[in-house]
Amino acid sequence: MSLLVMKFGGTSVGSAAAIAQLVSIAVDQRKTWDQVGVVVSAMSGVTDMLIGGAKAAAAGDDAPYQANAAKMRQKHAEALAELAGESEDTRAVLATINGLIDDFELLCRSVHVLGDLTPRAHDAIASLGERMSARLVACAMRARGLDSESIDATEFVVTSDEFSSAVPLHVQTRALAAVRVRPVLERGAVPVMTGYIGATESGVTTTLGRGGSDYSGAIIGSALDADEVAIYTDVDGVMTTDPRLAKNARVLPVLSFLEMSELAYFGAKVLHPRTVRPCVERGIPLRIRNTFNPEHEGTLLVQQAEDDGRAVRAVAAIKDLSMVTVEGRGMIGVPGVAAKTFGSVAAAGANVLMISQASSEQSICFVVPAASASATVAALEDGLRHELERRDIDRIWAREGIVIVTAVGAGMRERPGVAAQVLTSLSSQGINVIAIAQGSSECAISVVVGAQDGDAAVRAIHELAI
Ligand code: ADP
Ligand code: ASP
Ligand code: MG
Repeated sequence: MSLLVMKFGGTSVGSAAAIAQLVSIAVDQRKTWDQVGVVVSAMSGVTDMLIGGAKAAAAGDDAPYQANAAKMRQKHAEALAELAGESEDTRAVLATINGLIDDFELLCRSVHVLGDLTPRAHDAIASLGERMSARLVACAMRARGLDSESIDATEFVVTSDEFSSAVPLHVQTRALAAVRVRPVLERGAVPVMTGYIGATESGVTTTLGRGGSDYSGAIIGSALDADEVAIYTDVDGVMTTDPRLAKNARVLPVLSFLEMSELAYFGAKVLHPRTVRPCVERGIPLRIRNTFNPEHEGTLLVQQAEDDGRAVRAVAAIKDLSMVTVEGRGMIGVPGVAAKTFGSVAAAGANVLMISQASSEQSICFVVPAASASATVAALEDGLRHELERRDIDRIWAREGIVIVTAVGAGMRERPGVAAQVLTSLSSQGINVIAIAQGSSECAISVVVGAQDGDAAVRAIHELAI
């Protein structure tokens, strides 16, 4: 039995027209595959409305969640009416969706009263978008005569209890998927499963992190031993860079899993960075395709892509970062400063995206999200108190307005001088490079530039990939 698992993102379920397109793709794919499973995101904008309403409620403002609830009711009801018309099924699904929005309002009311949004409440609220869209899409399929059943991933995707970035537990998920999802596939129906969400072993709802529905697609594909996982989005595939930044960006027909991981990690929003791993581990082909241009083959991710003669295949960027520097002449030759530094950073819970140390050992620089910069500096000042008092360290400071731009390509390994090419492309545009780093995978070179140069730096390096 061949099985295709397809994941559809926010824009792909963002309107009645998009969902109609999704249903056509499912009908079509069922002609080639014995079994088809679908994983969906929330309708575009819905997760933002859920989280935005909850955060405002926690801050004392109850108007946004009420307004968002009204917008979500309208959005789902309109799409449902257009896709499925009037029927008993439609009425039942609409009632369930409205019930979920009632839950949203109830939860936000509690958050407002308490003045606190706990991580657990955050995930309970954020999970509602996918619960609504899965029901909507399954109903649209049934209205087109395709047997379909919506399934909340909380019923079978088992995760850790790290709310907002929960880690799936594969063994448990596999066992439950066999019981909950496989029978639906075996009776010839299409299960429409929620992306982004899961539940702990004791049944508490969790989420996998923003953009996490891609990851769900891979987890579910792996749990069901799919023969292919296809991620349907709003562009033709993985491109040489974000097409919103460079008009001449082109689709890459093939890319290696490693290149994709680096690109996603360094900011290419087209795929959640964790998506690749479950597929690699089980050798499942992964494809990125366009819901709105289904004839296009998209991008196929493979173990090893053929050398296409280019060292730089694609470029990505991460914005809203700060660069923290620990500086001091007394650091020279003093062992353990780096260990103490990163110990303090870890205690502050900051995610370090890139590290660079000058050979003189007079400074250590690293890049963290802007939102965690001040907490990081405070943690360092505390952790390195003695070194500061002794003047081994002179200064700890954060520079705001930082962007990391990363050039990715497996061909970098064999070719000397790629870093020089990258730097030349930047200097020819008059862009100042603050720091540079190469990962151990040797298939990515990252440069740190000021925020004002970020887009220009992407375009400059992108010329190497064209
Ligand atoms: P979805 O809702 O389907 O998950 P996303 O908005 O999360 O879609 O991701 C798709 C978007 O990613 C594209 O519309 C594009 O603007 C952006 N993007 C960023 N980098 C790339 C890239 N290298 N290739 C393709 N798209 C990219
Ligand atoms: N709906 C979630 C989000 O907006 C997950 C996803 O779309 O991948 O982050
Ligand atoms: Mg996405």
